[in-house]
Amino acid sequence: MTELVGKGIGGGIAEGKVVFYRTGVSDKRDNRSSGGSSQNELEKFRSALSAAISENEQLYESTLKKIGEEQARLFEVHTVMMKDAAFCSDIEKMIIGGHTAQDAVAAVCERLAGVFMSTGDDYMRSRAEDVRDISLRITNFMGGQDSSAEKILPDEGKVILCAETLTPSQTVKLDKKRIAAFVIAKGSFNSHTAILARGMGIPAVLDVGNELFTCSDGDYAVVDGNNGRVYVAPEGMEYSLREMVAERADQEKERYAYIGCDNVTKDGRRIELFANIGSCEDADFALENDAGGIGLFRSEFLFIGREDFPSEEEQFSAYRSVLEKMNGKKVIIRTLDIGADKHAEYFNTGFEENPAMGMRGIRLCLSHPEIFETQLRAMLRASAYGNLSILFPLVSSVKEVVRAKEYVTKVKKELNEKGIKTGVNVEIGVMVETPAAALISDMLAEYVDFFSVGTNDLSQYTLAVDRQNGSVSDFYDPHHEAILRLIEMTVRNAHEKNIWVGICGELGSDDTLTERFLRMGIDELSVSPPYILPLRGKIRKLDLRRSGVIV
Ligand code: PEP
Ligand code: MG
Repeated sequence: MTELVGKGIGGGIAEGKVVFYRTGVSDKRDNRSSGGSSQNELEKFRSALSAAISENEQLYESTLKKIGEEQARLFEVHTVMMKDAAFCSDIEKMIIGGHTAQDAVAAVCERLAGVFMSTGDDYMRSRAEDVRDISLRITNFMGGQDSSAEKILPDEGKVILCAETLTPSQTVKLDKKRIAAFVIAKGSFNSHTAILARGMGIPAVLDVGNELFTCSDGDYAVVDGNNGRVYVAPEGMEYSLREMVAERADQEKERYAYIGCDNVTKDGRRIELFANIGSCEDADFALENDAGGIGLFRSEFLFIGREDFPSEEEQFSAYRSVLEKMNGKKVIIRTLDIGADKHAEYFNTGFEENPAMGMRGIRLCLSHPEIFETQLRAMLRASAYGNLSILFPLVSSVKEVVRAKEYVTKVKKELNEKGIKTGVNVEIGVMVETPAAALISDMLAEYVDFFSVGTNDLSQYTLAVDRQNGSVSDFYDPHHEAILRLIEMTVRNAHEKNIWVGICGELGSDDTLTERFLRMGIDELSVSPPYILPLRGKIRKLDLRRSGVIV
């Protein structure tokens, strides 16, 4: 029997037989050597593109009727993407340069998808799925293929539809009466496939990984869309599978039994467990998982995927809403960390040879005071409604912190002079995500109230391994002793200056390091909401008086 764990997007529990929908771009590589000239390939691309656009328009209409306006809107977005001049011209340039139409579409879309995927953010990863959907649909029109999943469904009965990915257009073409549940190897909570499944009221679990392929057509599965669990057994084992599911439900209860408990080891060492969020809605999820606060609100996600900068009012209402939801718990909002892999189309920072080392994080804020001051004004106004802390990203010198704090003081003074209230104890922190920041953490500690270690970037910059580059991912080792020593040094320096220190990078949720972090003296771990309760369970079982022992 297999248990798969992924991201549950709701819809309750369903059971049934597994049917695999093996999707993907046509394997038939229509090589240029098979005769197509650039002109032929260009024509092939243009006619496939126009067919895909008109299919899209039909999908919009049918989704509008079958599911709803919100879900239909994504097909409008796809049309905009397909008509985008830069997108089309990139593909055409590749074709003129000698690639087949199919390869050019796949390559340009994959490059774009790669940029989205590399952000590590759920929302942005979802945009990668949109791009892949577009790629598949345009290339299918070239090969005359039908990308519909309908034809693989058995003649009758409902099925658990499993696939590596399921694009929004494939999802919406499905007859929902035939689908008991979706289980998808890739995909994310905010993907449009997830949004559509939610709209269809069908249980779905996404992002279960390649383990999905250990299952076969005809297996029996129980899908728990609420808890992101899929239980699979070979045909004929339905009864024992149901028994096991009941047992697992008891274990789930144990996890939820940690709600309301303290994050304390057997020997009395306490730590804060906060949540990382990217939107106001995520704050609900943080609360459901009993987060002690918000350790990192990636404010840049308010700036991405839109036509223009969010206004001060928009930002204010987003920050205020999170602060109010958290009702007095600490909310750490990071100032705009755009640049490198996170782009806002409307904000052209110019071409950079090496954007990860370029205009991003605090550098960008200090270079664009009008954007920085607007954001600070929105944050400080919102600070009257809760317990706000402000966090500066990608700091590498004391000078940057001094300047950033000057802006905070200036904006606060201006607001107060106008009679606008701001919070009384707004803490200021810096992210320790460059080796420089860790190495001068004794100096930085003089200027701030806390540190938050960004292990994602700290690993990239310490190891000189691009966190976005899949070809060097084997060398991206966040357990590297160099990184752990930098964290340890940061904690020591912070505590010597009586400030607290947390971790908000992904390493914070790695429970193989929890004990080490506790021994270092880390005061807070900020992780994605689903990791909070399991980490709490882990912490409560640890006894630091006994080395390496879980009691
Ligand atoms: C980090 O670098 O660890 C971090 C939390 O910031 P981001 O992943 O948003 O760059
Ligand atoms: Mg970072």
